[in-house]
Amino acid sequence: MSRAPSSIPSQLAAWKPGGSDEVLSDEFFEKVVSDALVWSALHGLVVGDRSNSRSGKVPGVGMVHAPFALTPTPLPMSYWRQACELAPLFNELVDRVSLDADFLQNSLSRTKKVDEFTGRLLEIHLQMLSLDKKEEIRLGLHRSDYMVDSETDMLYQIELNTISSSFPGLGSLVADLHRNVLGHYGQDLGLDSRNVPENPAVSQFAKALANAWSEYNASSAVVMVVVQGEERNMYDQYWLSTVLKDKHGVASIRKTLAEIDAQGHVLPDGTLVVDGHSVSVVYFRAGYTPNDYPSETEWRARLLIESSSAVKCPSIAYHLVGTKKIQQELAKPDILERFVENKDHVAALRKCFAGLWSLDNDEIVRTAMDKPELFVLKPQREGGGNNIYGTDVREMLIKLRNEGNDGLAAYILMQRIFPKDSLSYLIRDGISHTEKTISELGIYGAYLRNKDKVIINEQSGYLMRTKVSSSNEGGVAAGFAVLDSVYLT
Ligand code: ADP
Ligand code: MG
Ligand code: MG
Repeated sequence: MSRAPSSIPSQLAAWKPGGSDEVLSDEFFEKVVSDALVWSALHGLVVGDRSNSRSGKVPGVGMVHAPFALTPTPLPMSYWRQACELAPLFNELVDRVSLDADFLQNSLSRTKKVDEFTGRLLEIHLQMLSLDKKEEIRLGLHRSDYMVDSETDMLYQIELNTISSSFPGLGSLVADLHRNVLGHYGQDLGLDSRNVPENPAVSQFAKALANAWSEYNASSAVVMVVVQGEERNMYDQYWLSTVLKDKHGVASIRKTLAEIDAQGHVLPDGTLVVDGHSVSVVYFRAGYTPNDYPSETEWRARLLIESSSAVKCPSIAYHLVGTKKIQQELAKPDILERFVENKDHVAALRKCFAGLWSLDNDEIVRTAMDKPELFVLKPQREGGGNNIYGTDVREMLIKLRNEGNDGLAAYILMQRIFPKDSLSYLIRDGISHTEKTISELGIYGAYLRNKDKVIINEQSGYLMRTKVSSSNEGGVAAGFAVLDSVYLT
């Protein structure tokens, strides 16, 4: 199977995650790693293997374990509680902001001039407004990501994902894996499996999809998962659709945007029909990046979905609320108050906002050129690998400024967060490494309402991602990070 055992550096023998004094042997770690790899294979903690060209298309072909950390990462209980308590507040905030069409259109008006993708989304949003289209059943499956800044000891939000929030399936499994590892080896490692919180992300998201399906109230309708043509993270998605079917009896279909354009239409009563199936809920695991819209075909499909009566997860308005530009606008003084009445909630939300600036602020642009290492420059993109760091920030700012036109409006500036690093044992492709790492905590939130009735508004599990501290970006699918879970301290 793996080459893991022979590749464990011997310094690891002295690695004591739980702080015990006992020195653990190489043989001990070989056994733990091997057990964890077997567990992953047996429990579906897997992704498509890049080296197999069919692995992104055909389920059951060319699988490899998802990259993971061998043991969970310590997190003080206070940050955990704070992040969990924020989930229902962000769920509600997204809903409220989504209803303020002028706020969305105005906030993004400069961005759209220079960012075609955001412009296209706004165009669909505008078309729905002109039709006076109302979304009465609204479903959000979000993930709010955080890092703890070592200098200030503050928990800061990195971003809020409102579309294609990934890893509810595999994230749930990693917590199970860690509890299993600690169940067997916890004493030697000095770690107690009871400190790894349960991670119900997959069951809660499946429940929310099932409840949305019930609210739509068409017993023969299906949930449609919008997917990319090739998807190596398909098992994370299949976990969700499998639980949806096994536990709730709701069937799903998987379609690309191109297939939806070719096989879909909307009936006069608003029903979306794709490939002969009435669709009650559309769950997007594609459509968040310009790459998912190579031609007008895909945009037609997005418009078709939006104009139907199906519940969209997300609607175009929810999608727009998740843009980085809106995150930055919400951080401006007095803006949160427009959407949130409860003062304690406003304070709790604001507390997790890091510094966020639009680039029409000359002073901050000058500061960022002077000290680029303290900032991250972010375009309106999702999926990892798009941000600009370090001296590249300065170069990009100079270039955009010299170009003169509105280029700066495509970006926002964010205060760079510096989490404390720790030593972790990362396993990728059956090979383990000890690395200096930093972690990002994602908290899932599910929100479902039908008109005035809020049916679900809850925190729905979590995702810990751990990456080598020298790497700027954090995506697991993008190859920067590994899946992890939380060890509460
Ligand atoms: P995406 O939507 O592409 O995931 P993010 O805003 O989450 O965009 O940025 C991607 C990654 O970049 C994050 O997972 C994190 O590792 C890193 N990152 C983003 N913002 C910051 C920040 N302010 N400070 C430090 N790292 C950041
Ligand atoms: Mg994102
Ligand atoms: Mg992110």
